[in-house]
Amino acid sequence: MGGCAAILHYSNTPTLQFNVMPMQIIEHISEMQHWSDATRRDGRRIVFVPTMGFLHDAHLSLVRDGKKRGDRVVVSIFVNPAQFSPNEDFAAYPRDFERDRGLLEREHADVLFHPSVREIYPEGYQTHVNVDKLSGLLCGAHRPGHFQGVATVVAKLFNIVRPHVAIFGEKDYQQLQLVRRLVRDLNFAIEIIGHPIVREADGLAISSRNIYLSPEERQAALCLSRALVRAACMVQRGETRGRVITEAVRGGIEKEPLARVEYVTLCDSATLEPVEEIQESALLALAVRIGKTRLIDNQILKP
Ligand code: AMP
Repeated sequence: MGGCAAILHYSNTPTLQFNVMPMQIIEHISEMQHWSDATRRDGRRIVFVPTMGFLHDAHLSLVRDGKKRGDRVVVSIFVNPAQFSPNEDFAAYPRDFERDRGLLEREHADVLFHPSVREIYPEGYQTHVNVDKLSGLLCGAHRPGHFQGVATVVAKLFNIVRPHVAIFGEKDYQQLQLVRRLVRDLNFAIEIIGHPIVREADGLAISSRNIYLSPEERQAALCLSRALVRAACMVQRGETRGRVITEAVRGGIEKEPLARVEYVTLCDSATLEPVEEIQESALLALAVRIGKTRLIDNQILKP
């Protein structure tokens, strides 16, 4: 009898011990706004982590960061058609909702916002947000319309989730700067946090698109992070001339037969305008195709 009582006692304990609310899954805009209003009225600080799903360790690192910065964490999963051009991988973009939901539950995210494309862009939708200069530089020069799609969906998500804080990865450095600009220009009362790039043990920046790489391409993809290390060494040894650095980086990447450089640019870390000489610091940003997969990476260089 005593044994049974003990079992009953222990089996009841977890619910009493961890008073954890299960993660809520919200699909509709009105419900998300309602949750957010109620949470704000309770005086809770809402942290938002927007994603396109197929979550990996870098996404989860953003979520963990979010748990420390507020009282409630909302993660969105929305593969945004507006930021893919017709020849890009929107339809093929990897998706695994059940796996993502399990991962977010384990991280104790509070809300998973998972709207449909129709919910975000209903029949007759026609309003777009454009961050003029920033949208045309770096990746924007090679992906027409991409940053208009990003800015539009981010502005909409901010109005839907109404967070106090939003976290974006520095891997998509241009996106982060564009969001900072958008928040200033449109007066969103949201603090934007940049999260450092999360890398695999061998240096490759983690990305949902890394699953497209064959084993041979996966090895070849190391040329991106190696190029950044090479550039940082050059700068440490005193090199500050943009042309010399970008040419060395480009040359290093081009030695890899599977790699095709899209751009290697040294630029101002806020405006992303190209710079000829590193003063206090500069951003080295690159986009490289490995086979059919387009990869990006970047690093701040400081003399
Ligand atoms: P995505 O699902 O690719 O749109 O990414 C969602 C968020 O995670 C964005 O803010 C990305 O910048 C960020 N992110 C993705 N990969 C990384 C990484 N390797 N390191 C840091 N942040 C990342």
